[in-house]
Amino acid sequence: MKINILSPHIDDAAYCLALTISKCVKCKMEITIINCFTVTDWAIRFVSKDKNEISLLRKKEDEQFYKSYDFPITIVNLDLLDAPLRSGFIFQKNVFGEKEWEMVRELKSYLENYVDGILFCPLAIGNHIDHAICREAVMQLYGKIKVIFFEDLPYAFRITKDEILAHVNNLQKNLNVKLVHQINTCEQLNFDKEHLIRIYDTQINEEICAEIIAHMNAVCGERFWGEAKVLQELNSF
Ligand SMILES: [Zn+2]
Repeated sequence: MKINILSPHIDDAAYCLALTISKCVKCKMEITIINCFTVTDWAIRFVSKDKNEISLLRKKEDEQFYKSYDFPITIVNLDLLDAPLRSGFIFQKNVFGEKEWEMVRELKSYLENYVDGILFCPLAIGNHIDHAICREAVMQLYGKIKVIFFEDLPYAFRITKDEILAHVNNLQKNLNVKLVHQINTCEQLNFDKEHLIRIYDTQINEEICAEIIAHMNAVCGERFWGEAKVLQELNSF
């Protein structure tokens, strides 16, 4: 079984799916992480102003994170410009402009050509424009690719469960499908998520780390959403 994780930024797959990746490793699945907007000068504390330096630093953190699984995991960096460098804003307020649609087209073309198996895609909770672009590209391919949607962190922790359900409901209506959820629980695994996500030293602080872990404790693991037949296929391995 091939598993692909569409990670808008370098740390998203880790924050949202570290436990799930561990489970896939145990089942010896073929795992590919697709990092999209990897050209960036975003850091939570001052490390440099140079986008090349920061992008490189972040890629090194990512490599270190996946090395900790002690299992071959492929990382693909698409090297698209992230939102602050591309457009000067982060959160979506209006409908997509030309720059956003251009990113949707690029991503869609990559996914169409290279993705085989199951694709984990962000729900785009929190309205980060880069997450919304990822989701839009996947929605345009829905039906051609087997998709599972994951809850974006720390954003999903910042809204109520009802708000998350309303978000998923909207997506169901747009896709005209029924989505059910699955939780990969912490108890299944002997795994220290908090320790691992701290590898993303340029991106994480105490507050974000606490939000990610609090969400994990609240849902008892990592929750994701998909059509029953796709989840069944995931679980059959
Ligand atoms: Zn992100």
